[in-house]
Amino acid sequence: MLCSINSTDIISLFVFPEIIKSYRVALAEAINGNLFFAGEATDVLGDWGTVNGALNSGERVALEVIEAIVNPVT
Ligand SMILES: Cc1cc2nc3c(=O)[nH]c(=O)nc-3n(C[C@H](O)[C@H](O)[C@H](O)COP(=O)(O)OP(=O)(O)OC[C@H]3O[C@@H](n4cnc5c(N)ncnc54)[C@H](O)[C@@H]3O)c2cc1C
Repeated sequence: MLCSINSTDIISLFVFPEIIKSYRVALAEAINGNLFFAGEATDVLGDWGTVNGALNSGERVALEVIEAIVNPVT
């Protein structure tokens, strides 16, 4: 995909990042409470594309796994 952000275009500056963020939220969603997704692409805190984003997502998923063990989906 070829993509460019025009710093004077209000849609590029404010709408595009929100759309991308909603994709990341969807990517990070667990399936059936027992299939989990980590990785920089799932970061919604602004660190996507970095090792920090990957590490943070790993911590998020670790907590999700603990939660799933404690409160399994029936
Ligand atoms: C050249 C380069 C320089 C970079 N420099 C920096 C930097 O200076 N600082 C920084 O913070 N970030 C940097 N990054 C980005 C950083 O490397 C990534 O954001 C980070 O590694 C993402 O981690 P991840 O665990 O999400 O994904 P990855 O590290 O890509 O791990 C995904 C793993 O899944 C494996 N995989 C993929 N598909 C399958 C499959 N079907 N089955 C099984 N395994 C599969 C892959 O082989 C890979 O090992 C750089 C990236 C590149 C390419």
